[in-house]
Amino acid sequence: MVRLINYTINPEITIATAARLCYSSYDISKIEKDFTGSNGLEKARKLIKKIRISGHDSVLEHAGFTFGVEKLSRSASHQLVRHRIASYSQRSQRYVKETKPQFVIPDSIANDAGLSDMFNKLINDIFSLYGYFIEKGIPAEDARYILPNATETQLAFTMNARELLHFLKLRGCERAQWEIRQLAKDVFKLVYPIAPSVFQGAGPACVKGNCSEGGFTCGRPLEIRAEWLNMAKLAAHS
Ligand SMILES: Cc1cc2nc3c(=O)[nH]c(=O)nc-3n(C[C@H](O)[C@H](O)[C@H](O)COP(=O)(O)OP(=O)(O)OC[C@H]3O[C@@H](n4cnc5c(N)ncnc54)[C@H](O)[C@@H]3O)c2cc1C
Repeated sequence: MVRLINYTINPEITIATAARLCYSSYDISKIEKDFTGSNGLEKARKLIKKIRISGHDSVLEHAGFTFGVEKLSRSASHQLVRHRIASYSQRSQRYVKETKPQFVIPDSIANDAGLSDMFNKLINDIFSLYGYFIEKGIPAEDARYILPNATETQLAFTMNARELLHFLKLRGCERAQWEIRQLAKDVFKLVYPIAPSVFQGAGPACVKGNCSEGGFTCGRPLEIRAEWLNMAKLAAHS
């Protein structure tokens, strides 16, 4: 579950102003006025379209987005924090005790009654033992060593628009693991309506061109492209 906590006000105007000032002799205030006046947003979006085509993406770094994520497994959060051009704050397992068994169960297991019973039993046993360790005075930072990857976590992360595009490309791809892929899709749905010119065509490589995964391709580029374009359409009207 992800929500947008905060973001740069008027991200498209901020980006366009930063981009224009590189090549303009006008004062910044005049450039800004141009983008905030009548048709300003339209002008900003036109400029961003050109920037995206040219690949001069550093100006996209002027717009930042902060997300709050809950009920994510530690397995997925470990993948998320591999993205280095970002800031993270994650609930500590040293200072916060995992007293309640809160965990993520993948559909592949949940959809099988027998396997999901075994999964739930084992996880509940682990959390019981964890609780026993805590009762016995074992510090939380040590008791957590027995907790599973499925354990839920919560975190906040901030990425700029350039890194978000990179994140969506890698983690929105069918090759990415399902939980972080779902997070990528949910993030896309949140940011697209706020800055459509920036996130137009965001997502895996197949949204804009050919699949980049070679032998690992899912083999469904047209279907995936349609899915992302449809997500953008729905998000724009949400
Ligand atoms: C499908 C999939 C499978 C994966 N499997 C594995 C796996 O088996 N094992 C594993 O360890 N990881 C795995 N990863 C993680 C992957 O290797 C990356 O660590 C992760 O996706 C972060 O991406 P990144 O390094 O491109 O970019 P980020 O950390 O998001 O950085 C963005 C970009 O900034 C630049 N950059 C950042 N830091 C540096 C730097 N120090 N030097 C130069 N340029 C830099 C690069 O251009 C980089 O692409 C997998 C990822 C995916 C999507």
